[in-house]
Amino acid sequence: MMRDSDCTVGDERLIKDVESLRVSSVEPEEEFEDYEEDECEEPVVLGFVQSPEHEWSLLRHLFPSKAGGLPAWLDPNDLPSGKSCTCDICGTPLRFLLQVYAPLSHKESAFHRTLYIFICTSMTCLIQHQRNQQNQCSKKGSRSVKVFRCQLPRTNPYYSPDAPKNDGTDKPSTVGAALCDWCGSWKGDRVCSSCGITHYCSDIHQTTHWSSGHESECCQTILSLSVESGSDRVAMERQRG
Ligand SMILES: [Zn+2]
Ligand SMILES: [Zn+2]
Ligand SMILES: [Zn+2]
Repeated sequence: MMRDSDCTVGDERLIKDVESLRVSSVEPEEEFEDYEEDECEEPVVLGFVQSPEHEWSLLRHLFPSKAGGLPAWLDPNDLPSGKSCTCDICGTPLRFLLQVYAPLSHKESAFHRTLYIFICTSMTCLIQHQRNQQNQCSKKGSRSVKVFRCQLPRTNPYYSPDAPKNDGTDKPSTVGAALCDWCGSWKGDRVCSSCGITHYCSDIHQTTHWSSGHESECCQTILSLSVESGSDRVAMERQRG
């Protein structure tokens, strides 16, 4: 159900909206004042960012709209992969910006529907992206802002067909695909070949995690695993004996 921003007309329109989108706090800050609007289009205000009353309200079984942190993937298994997850300009994995829960009640296949916006953190890429859009040369492979849409029908393998109670008693849904141990956003298809435990979305996140501490943790994991399997063996031999 995941779509890259290139796929549909609706999403392309959204990309345009995203360009004029500002995420602001409840009290607008001054830094937004010198924001210049080249086009006649009015900026789109989706909402205001507020701290959640309860941390659990941001979990995916409660269908949150949120900004920052990590994406709460509606479909925990069918995640974007490969080139969809990276900036087309610099090639680094995109960072989660925000998600909006926007179900279409009249459409059974979109009973649950969430839009996800990811961006590259390089200003150079964002400027290039904007230039590409303005020049109408939005050829595939030149985006540093991408929008994904995920939809599920009311009856699906992950969530109850009944609305959550939103009182903290709702049970989390099943565990989904393994996510990258460095960014926590994208599917972790690559596994560390030394410990076989940590997952990564890309070479760059594997290398960054390695130099940021996994190098020593990885060796410790291997050591503790071999100690465990050693003690298992002793226990099994004792049982046999
Ligand atoms: Zn980039
Ligand atoms: Zn990653
Ligand atoms: Zn490892």
